[in-house]
Amino acid sequence: MARFTDKVAIITGSSNGIGQATAVLFASEGAKVTITGRNAERLEVTKKLLLDAHIPDNHINVVVGDITQESVQEALIKTTLEKFGKIDILVNNAGAGIPDPQGKTGVNQSMSTYHKTFELNVQSVLEMTQKARPHLAKSQGEIVNISSIGAGPAAQVANPYYSIAKAALDQYTRTAAIDLAPENIRVNSVSPGAVATGFSTVSRGLNEQKSKAMYEYLGSQKECIPRGFCAGPEDIAKVIAFLADRNASNYIIGQTIVADGGTSLILGAHAHGARMVEAI
Ligand code: NDP
Repeated sequence: MARFTDKVAIITGSSNGIGQATAVLFASEGAKVTITGRNAERLEVTKKLLLDAHIPDNHINVVVGDITQESVQEALIKTTLEKFGKIDILVNNAGAGIPDPQGKTGVNQSMSTYHKTFELNVQSVLEMTQKARPHLAKSQGEIVNISSIGAGPAAQVANPYYSIAKAALDQYTRTAAIDLAPENIRVNSVSPGAVATGFSTVSRGLNEQKSKAMYEYLGSQKECIPRGFCAGPEDIAKVIAFLADRNASNYIIGQTIVADGGTSLILGAHAHGARMVEAI
């Protein structure tokens, strides 16, 4: 029997990138999945990937909408219950670095950027957790939040509110894990480093070509990604699946698993290596 047979999962932000790969992996391993995002066309691509992987149509629920809207959050819960009868797994994956309208970085970024960034990356997670809680308590379920190594401890001047939001999310993961433990709901999170997805086109405004070149460059620079390559969304989906699988990770709660190919282990000084001695 596949590990997610008879499980029902809501995966936010599944019209692209990590969420899309997670939906395909979960469904391929037996889960019924609710997929969601604002972009109806890209959501259709996810649905086609699922159907191409021989997932039956009645294992797929599609909700188009903005996850920051309460009506969309409610539709996710309601339609999942109507179609599948329960909720076992909530993956709070939707997220992005919201570009500042005037291109500002650091402490000068606008308050509207701050509010939009927190609405998406923090508040929607809080709201989905509240709404899913009674159903997860009933099923003894799991929550996996998607954070980022941007949460720290390294400073993030280019996209400060995004990184502060992910740091807040990490503390929420710990707090929710303890709060919900008596209801037998497990809460954990994954902190990816660079992953080749649509993230850079949204958050950094790069076109597809530049985005691809950036991920390839990062992967080829050992002081950026010591592992020697930039992750694909499937690499992160596997970690999410581990945390969503009670058999595999039952004793882990409130933890953030870093999956960054070693990026966060490198200090600036390491980049100079032995050459530093020659330079002085
Ligand atoms: P993508 O841009 O490829 O995917 C983001 C997903 O989130 C899309 O499905 C998008 O759907 C959805 N989304 C964004 N805003 C909203 C919204 N307001 N309402 C509903 N859905 C929304 O990026 P990733 O797959 O890389 O991002 C997934 C998660 O991984 C995010 O939380 C991100 O912060 C995190 N992450 C990514 C890293 C990377 O390098 N890629 C590194 C560290 C963390 P749509 O546009 O259709 O609304």
